[in-house]
Amino acid sequence: MKRLIGYLFVAVLLLNPTILFAQKSAGTEVKQLQGPQNPRLGFVIHGGAGVISRGSLSPEREKEYRAKLEEAVLAGYKALQAGKSSLDAVEIAIRILEDSPLFNAGKGAVFTNEGKNELDASIMDGKTLGAGAVAGLTRVRNPITLARAVMEKSEHVMMVGAGAEKFAEQQKMELVDPKYFWTESRWNALQRILKEEKEKEEKSKDHGKLTEAEKPANKFGTVGAVALDKDGNLAAGTSTGGMTNKRFGRVGDAPIIGAGTYANNATCAVSATGWGEFFIRLSVARDISSLMEYRAMTVQQAADLVIKTKLQKLGGDGGVVAIDKFGNIGVSFNSEGMYRAYINAEGKPVVEIYKD
Ligand code: ASP
Repeated sequence: MKRLIGYLFVAVLLLNPTILFAQKSAGTEVKQLQGPQNPRLGFVIHGGAGVISRGSLSPEREKEYRAKLEEAVLAGYKALQAGKSSLDAVEIAIRILEDSPLFNAGKGAVFTNEGKNELDASIMDGKTLGAGAVAGLTRVRNPITLARAVMEKSEHVMMVGAGAEKFAEQQKMELVDPKYFWTESRWNALQRILKEEKEKEEKSKDHGKLTEAEKPANKFGTVGAVALDKDGNLAAGTSTGGMTNKRFGRVGDAPIIGAGTYANNATCAVSATGWGEFFIRLSVARDISSLMEYRAMTVQQAADLVIKTKLQKLGGDGGVVAIDKFGNIGVSFNSEGMYRAYINAEGKPVVEIYKD
């Protein structure tokens, strides 16, 4: 009898293998981007994850964020509609966010402990697995464009500091005085942390521990984009100023291919934001792709497993935006909020900030 039940179970599974899968996917929302208006086009961006609770932003400020996110997501999407590549769409949207002082990338980048701005970025082409990354830039106005030049116009994948800037000069990239990146709010954020650090040091001599203001959850604004173009090609890009008060040439996950950025036409494109050290240790972006490849998860399931289980367990925080080769999007974060925007099935932009 037992054996018969076993045979029956196997037969049912063979006839309908989605039963197992359907159980797994219960409770996770899969947003379909494909609609009659936009077959095989998809575009999602983020503007950083962190402590963004309802009420913490003034209505005017929230409006500014929403408007800039909408502008960027529409610009990328329009490029896709005009037949441009997913790489173009990613670069176009990220440049808009880099030029805005609202986000921690390009103008608006956070300050290092020494009061400088050091910028990191990366981009990846899902079709070729080509990738370009830059770190520790101080004079390049749009790091994402330099990352793309590293991918397309050099033999290398990653360049840092003075060497990367020499390459930027050769490529006739727009260079700016480092003062261009100065913004009052980011400067004040550094001053607050330095003050708190000093007070704490004096009180307890508790070296090595992070103060409340220093905790990465209290900083956000990294930007990123993922796209699917009409040819079915995926691309991902990420750009950041890193974390306030970073020292010693610290580099986070944003320019690390497989950690902050990953794209593979066989699976998905991912851009991350959050406490970079954890994202590097978990190879977050590549792990999401691998879960889809090896365990046949949906993009949302894979993103949730990595962010809400693995990252959470390790003590990190942040989130990702991702898109699969069919245009389904995955958005997951374990922080209070994440600035994000995507194009829905009707071809309309949707901007979200909070958890619900
Ligand atoms: N992931 C970035 C870093 O660690 C920071 C962020 O996304 O807020 O450099």
